[in-house]
Amino acid sequence: MKFDINNILDILQKEVSTYKVPVVDLIAVQSNDPYQVLVATILSARTKDETTAKAAARLFKKAPDINSLAELSEEEIARLIYPVGFYKNKAGYLTKLPGALEAFSSKVPDTIESLVKLPGVGRKTANLVLAVAFKKPAICVDTHVHRIMNIWGYVETTTPLQTEMALRKKLPEKHWLTVNSILVAFGQGTCRSVSPHCDRCVIQQQCPQIGVTPRKIPGKKISASKNRALKLLCWNVNGIRAIEKKGFIDIVRELEPDILSLQETKAQPDQLSDELKNINGYSSYWHSAERKGYSGVAVYSRREPLNVIYGIEREEYDREGRVLTLEFDDFFLINIYFPNAGNELKRLGYKLDFNSALLDFVQGLRAFKSVVICGDYNVAHKEIDLKNPKSNEKNAGFTPEERQWMDTFLTAGFVDTFRMFHQGPDHYTWWSYRFNARARNIGWRIDYFCVDEKSSNRVMNAAILQDVMGSDHCPVQLDFK
Ligand code: SF4
Repeated sequence: MKFDINNILDILQKEVSTYKVPVVDLIAVQSNDPYQVLVATILSARTKDETTAKAAARLFKKAPDINSLAELSEEEIARLIYPVGFYKNKAGYLTKLPGALEAFSSKVPDTIESLVKLPGVGRKTANLVLAVAFKKPAICVDTHVHRIMNIWGYVETTTPLQTEMALRKKLPEKHWLTVNSILVAFGQGTCRSVSPHCDRCVIQQQCPQIGVTPRKIPGKKISASKNRALKLLCWNVNGIRAIEKKGFIDIVRELEPDILSLQETKAQPDQLSDELKNINGYSSYWHSAERKGYSGVAVYSRREPLNVIYGIEREEYDREGRVLTLEFDDFFLINIYFPNAGNELKRLGYKLDFNSALLDFVQGLRAFKSVVICGDYNVAHKEIDLKNPKSNEKNAGFTPEERQWMDTFLTAGFVDTFRMFHQGPDHYTWWSYRFNARARNIGWRIDYFCVDEKSSNRVMNAAILQDVMGSDHCPVQLDFK
């Protein structure tokens, strides 16, 4: 069936008119004020709409215009907007905003070139402000627009900026102002980044569903019975207490994993809130490092395990809280935070010794039943697994020794499940916080789900959930039956 973008966007516009309106549009309608739209847009980055709406309401009560914003201290702004993502950075931007707007007569400018000069305003924010506050022809490419346009095959791009440029060439201009609002609402309500609700999607017949999870595998149906595939997720959260402030519990509720394995929790059990330890429907298990604020792994599970194994019975590794194993009746789930080879490869020897001991441990378990080995392996296996292989050949995570161990591991009879389904480049799970690397998709694939070869027929799907924010890693998924 021909993919008619005009028809599709018309259908979706009607469809999402019954959904919740994205918060920035709502504020535009309610206030008709470019200042409030700009501030709400800055607040909304990497934050759920509900959180943004409440934070914006608190802030606008105290600072309904730019002059009153100038009266507030950075600390007060931070307190008012907490817990939006990166609230401290955003408080800093908003403190500087009145001064920055003086160059524009204390009014929000209406060109991209001027908007991107303001603190905390990137191209996406500038486009959104232009489209929503000034009704100017601009295409804001939110992560939903980028993702859904690629699912439809309307563009074939790897970054939101590429998508914006591609859309500028081919999307009829009448859709420029509205496409973001439509697809943000549609992406939040139906075409979700995780498990989109294709079964009730109004454009299912026209949608090519490129790269969509769950992907149907010929001859293997995922049944809705108790025999269904388990949804296993694995995520290096880079500090559980930090990510809790960015909405971790809401993310878990939205993703609905059966088992969620975490690495780099960086917390002792007595530092965890009750909410973190007791997410409704899950039991949680924690293995922390002796050293505070370092390493650590955890597992949340809806199924009660038969047994939990803390570490690998090697004191020199177990004191770093790196391995946590849950035994179920028909498989072991082994959650691992592999050591980093470190600056100047100072810990490369330690890492290789750990890897060797770990392989012995896994081989021992494998003799009894299936093994699922997930975690931050801290190595990109092949050149295809990172953006810049040549310049990283001597760096931790891509040294010949680490890659060789990954060869040894797979040759010993284990399968990298992601590559069972996806052969191409540009699939990453970690991006540096520097150089805008995530937006430019300059990343590494270092988080894996592997299984023993014999159990590969139990693998229904594997995916990278690159749109899930909160850490410098994104979660990876395995559907395992
Ligand atoms: S059919 Fe599925 S993938 Fe396609 S637009 Fe609808 S929800 Fe998204």
